[in-house]
Amino acid sequence: MAMSRSIERIGRLRELIATDGLDALLVSGKENVRYLSAFTGTNGTLLIDPDDAYLLTDFRYVEQAADQSPDFEVIDGGETPRKRLAERMNTRAKVGFDDADMRVKNHAALVEELSEGTELVAAAGVVEKLRAVKDADEIDAIARAAAIADSIYSTISEEGLAGRSEKDVAWRIEWLARERGASGLSFPPIVAGGPHGALPHAEPRDRKIGDGELVVLDLGVVFDGYCSDCTRTFASGNVDGHAREIYDIVLDAQRTALAQIAEGVECQLIDKSARDVIDAAGYADQFGHSTGHGVGVEVHELPTLSSRSKDVLELGNVVTVEPGIYLPGEFGVRIEDLVVVADDGPRVLTPFEKQLLVVD
Ligand code: ZN
Ligand code: ZN
Repeated sequence: MAMSRSIERIGRLRELIATDGLDALLVSGKENVRYLSAFTGTNGTLLIDPDDAYLLTDFRYVEQAADQSPDFEVIDGGETPRKRLAERMNTRAKVGFDDADMRVKNHAALVEELSEGTELVAAAGVVEKLRAVKDADEIDAIARAAAIADSIYSTISEEGLAGRSEKDVAWRIEWLARERGASGLSFPPIVAGGPHGALPHAEPRDRKIGDGELVVLDLGVVFDGYCSDCTRTFASGNVDGHAREIYDIVLDAQRTALAQIAEGVECQLIDKSARDVIDAAGYADQFGHSTGHGVGVEVHELPTLSSRSKDVLELGNVVTVEPGIYLPGEFGVRIEDLVVVADDGPRVLTPFEKQLLVVD
């Protein structure tokens, strides 16, 4: 029988725990718990050491946990969940915890229960490092999510944009996602026409999209627990030369960065390659966000493609490449693809047209 997903992930996690000099790791974040154990309940904490793997939950979820997470010993926390957890932790000296997730008061209450020889050590990001490298099944789920999003772009561009409100288009996107098999959206879609497109995270408004505007559409769907993320900028009718010029600079930056995607490449260099194109065109100050991010069970994951990133691309990373130029009071342009770092180079999951599409 093939090794279960959980066993394989716990094995990789144990290697990371040892590398970090820890004797055990507490996993509290919901996405991380689900990633390692497949448990989907709202109350679950994992404790993983070199010999054992525990899942602490409460009475409501004991049966579900046993069913979803057969590779874990399920503990019913009862009236004293921290005591039950500490009993298992007290055999270990250094126990890592997720300081980006655990509340200060929960941390203090847990420390109360620990014996002299056991220390809680801040260790955020350990499971996130594992999650950054996707297996074939995960890549397949992300690819299916991306394909649904691509088909939504096709439909929306056939239906046209001018005369519809941004909110109407956003609702249409959500409806199409559900109709085509997505369990939901990765994030509320961005539909931003004209000057509104200069806000990188614009919220859709009641305002009707005019004729001849640049319209930024950024959307992602969830399929089988995995997200996609893709942006296209459309023209709702003919736009002037200035708009086309900016569009082409962003497209050039996006293609340049995309071509750099390969195993072993420093993420900050990919960011720089996009930024260099935009800087050279004179719009350095109009590209105020990072070039990309990992995507998986959450829409923002490791690695980070930014100027300060220390991450290096690994096989199995799935990342976005999304430079943009934002001209306040005028318009914005962003073009975003979702890409797998594969052994034969970048594998683009979002093949939808990248030349400026004029949709009436
Ligand atoms: Zn996006
Ligand atoms: Zn993105």
